[in-house]
Amino acid sequence: MSDETVDVLIVGSGHSGGMAAKILTEKGISCLLLNAGPVADVHKDTEVKPAYALPFRGFKQPGILPHVFQSNEFNANTWVDEKENPYTYDAARPYNWVRVRLFGGRSLFWSRQSFRLSDYEFKARSHDGYGDDWPIGLADLAPYYSRVEEIFRVSGHADGLLQYPDGNFVPDNSPWSGSMQRMVDAGKGMGIAVCKARSSMGVDGLASSVNLLLPDAIATGRLRAIPNVVVRALSVDSNTGLVREAHFVDRLSRREMSVKARVVVVAAGTLESTRLLLNSRLANSSGVMGHYLIDQIYGAGIACSVPEARDGKASPELTGGSALVPRFRNIDTRAGNFIRGYALNLYSSTGGMDPRHFAAYGDELRIKLERYHGSGFSAGIMGEVLARFENNVSIDKTVVDAWDIPALHIETKYTDNEFNMARDAVDTASAMAEAAGFEVLTKNYQPNPPGYSIHELGTCRMGDDPKTSVLNKWNQSHDIKNLFVVDGAAFVSAGWQNPTMTILALAMRSAEYLAEQMRTGNV
Ligand SMILES: Cc1cc2nc3c(=O)[nH]c(=O)nc-3n(C[C@H](O)[C@H](O)[C@H](O)COP(=O)(O)OP(=O)(O)OC[C@H]3O[C@@H](n4cnc5c(N)ncnc54)[C@H](O)[C@@H]3O)c2cc1C
Repeated sequence: MSDETVDVLIVGSGHSGGMAAKILTEKGISCLLLNAGPVADVHKDTEVKPAYALPFRGFKQPGILPHVFQSNEFNANTWVDEKENPYTYDAARPYNWVRVRLFGGRSLFWSRQSFRLSDYEFKARSHDGYGDDWPIGLADLAPYYSRVEEIFRVSGHADGLLQYPDGNFVPDNSPWSGSMQRMVDAGKGMGIAVCKARSSMGVDGLASSVNLLLPDAIATGRLRAIPNVVVRALSVDSNTGLVREAHFVDRLSRREMSVKARVVVVAAGTLESTRLLLNSRLANSSGVMGHYLIDQIYGAGIACSVPEARDGKASPELTGGSALVPRFRNIDTRAGNFIRGYALNLYSSTGGMDPRHFAAYGDELRIKLERYHGSGFSAGIMGEVLARFENNVSIDKTVVDAWDIPALHIETKYTDNEFNMARDAVDTASAMAEAAGFEVLTKNYQPNPPGYSIHELGTCRMGDDPKTSVLNKWNQSHDIKNLFVVDGAAFVSAGWQNPTMTILALAMRSAEYLAEQMRTGNV
């Protein structure tokens, strides 16, 4: 491959790489896409085996995937194995880095919650004085969100709330179940809106890069995609200062290879993108690459029971369904002990209760579980984590992965802002549930450790000032104009919203800008 120069090399095949490939190839540009992992047969490989056919009966093999809370023996083939691809952290400050290297990345498995950021996030510093504004606002991204929502078939309801921007939705006018309606009414009484959640329907339940983005790129005849190759570094032409070549290794044979490219688009999934750039020692004249690692707090929340649904009286009219309480704190008023805000995911269950919600044993527990079956109701936080310089990733010089690529060291922790926010979320959710007439069984004030939300963001943030940011507002390196980073690494702040709609809209916008720059000969 070494004599060939490709037009655009894309690293990564997930939502962000898939979107870049679709837009660029549709604009007439040839692309080579490299992906670290194998192609999955989405249907065959996700077939769930019965517990009796598994060596650990569905429980995890001890010592495997210790930081992937979401893993079990049924889905253990999904996740990146930490032994093969390690990362390090201070033992007192664990980080749960959840990665998928299959072709299509995490787009094969995401939960599909699909929200826009609002100007309360894009212009957060202007609102409360903390951190930095993004160099773009909702008006810049809205047309791209609309196109992404159309491709991903986002269902939703227009609520007319500035902090929960409406979009190009497949209308969701489904009725609330009785218990959810009680929560809607309880929220009204407290000035808190309970809304329909917004979700990518995709096609046949799959809203991935492999079924919604890459087929369009392949249809142009301009995309070559190679699985099972791990990009270890990018190198620069010392005469021009431009990125010239990517060096990669065959995952299976360990054969080393390289390819020259006119432009490189990095879309390896936030921290892998930053790891690649840090290992390449480029594009970091600002010194902020690796810094401002952000995510969202999850885990804090409440579990309740709807009394009228107990003793076999649950019905489809009374229970079932989900809802979202979009951010309501620090919009018009100021919360006393934290800035920014959180959303609550509400869920009315029709199944069995978790025995951990009852302080009972033996027959007493058995009876409780029978009586409460089908009456569960829960509320959980999705809260903004503040962007802080000291939350960062760097290269660990002592640890390498299975391909001899230096590993990341991750330094991050939550502080009072996050803990106070979690406390407020739990107390508010409890007050709403009690006003709705539910029994609150458990309250958990403790957020899960950083990384758990699988929404790692930042570390190559965008900005107008090359001294304080890595990328400009087009996801283009300030230092190297033929280098783009189109995934969550570009985020300036996290917001409470699940990030993928924003990642997709940014990747689309950036790829269109790049195509135009290539057409006019600027890149
Ligand atoms: C269980 C789960 C639930 C989720 N739920 C939601 C949700 O409801 N809403 C939401 O907005 N988000 C959700 N997310 C997050 C969402 O999946 C991600 O934000 C999004 O898919 C990120 O896309 P990406 O392309 O940036 O990265 P990824 O999907 O991580 O793709 C990166 C790709 O790059 C490849 N790669 C990495 N390193 C290299 C290298 N060195 N060389 C070559 N290739 C490389 C990998 O193989 C991978 O395929 C969820 C994620 C998971 C796992």
